[in-house]
Amino acid sequence: MEAIPVGVRDRFAAAVRFHELTPADRRDSRKDGATKVVFRTPDDHLIESVILRIQSGRSSLCVSSQTGCVGGCRFCATGRIKGGRNLTSAEVLDQVVRVGEILAAEGRRLRNVVLMGMGEPLLNEDVVCSALAALRGHDGFNLSGRHLLVSTLGIPDAIRRLAAKFPQVGLAVSLHSARQTVRDDLMPLARRWPLGELRQAILDANTLQDRTVMIEVLMLDGVTDTETDQAALIEWLTGLRVHVNLIPFNPVGDVALDGVRLRASHSVRIQSMLEALKAASFTTTRRRSLGSDIGAACGQLAGDQSEQSQPA
Ligand code: SF4
Repeated sequence: MEAIPVGVRDRFAAAVRFHELTPADRRDSRKDGATKVVFRTPDDHLIESVILRIQSGRSSLCVSSQTGCVGGCRFCATGRIKGGRNLTSAEVLDQVVRVGEILAAEGRRLRNVVLMGMGEPLLNEDVVCSALAALRGHDGFNLSGRHLLVSTLGIPDAIRRLAAKFPQVGLAVSLHSARQTVRDDLMPLARRWPLGELRQAILDANTLQDRTVMIEVLMLDGVTDTETDQAALIEWLTGLRVHVNLIPFNPVGDVALDGVRLRASHSVRIQSMLEALKAASFTTTRRRSLGSDIGAACGQLAGDQSEQSQPA
């Protein structure tokens, strides 16, 4: 910019908005190197992004796609925010830019971006697709599609479209239960897309993509971790090319299902599910949730805001 006269430079700087988001808060975990960054949008919504630092020096970022979520999942703090809206692609991408600056100052590089923060990405499909294109593009962020992941509660047609448009971008489906009634109770919005339809969409994604679909199962005591759940899950997954990720439950206040308080599964039950799935030949991992001490772990985002409404 030095070849450009100072006056022009100043006019340019005044006319162009380089950032959509203003940093509002930052919390660093004392346990595991996770950082939660809270951003304020121009219309005063608060959204959260989570940095996950990996020892190799590379890092992952979990970004938000909405300011709240109509999903209403019982185990999720974001689902309790009323009056949310879709983020714009500039707001999605500015989370990556801002966090890239934080990491660059630490001598780290951003390697993975996962759309697993606040909101249901496939309810903001156009914006998510344009953000993915920018993240992958050589004139954009130049990240490999293999290092991008979109997590959804499972909207069949949108899963097919995304898989067709981005064969290399990872898909994670929040299944949680292969029993329809349990899933309906846990994830009210997902009732619109019964388990059979969702399974067919994953089957289609398997033919459109050359990578496995991640299936996420939240481990809830007596709700998703029983022997009946194991059998239902194995039956439902059979024939799909998937990787199963078992997620320990991070409490988000007092949440009940049919009058029974939701509690984390005992680690023995998680291990039993893991072994049963492995015995059935499914690649299965147990997620190590980072950032639970700063309200940044899975399901906890926006926990401080969730009893309030966001601006309309
Ligand atoms: S888990 Fe995802 S889809 Fe469900 S309420 Fe939370 S943000 Fe929405």
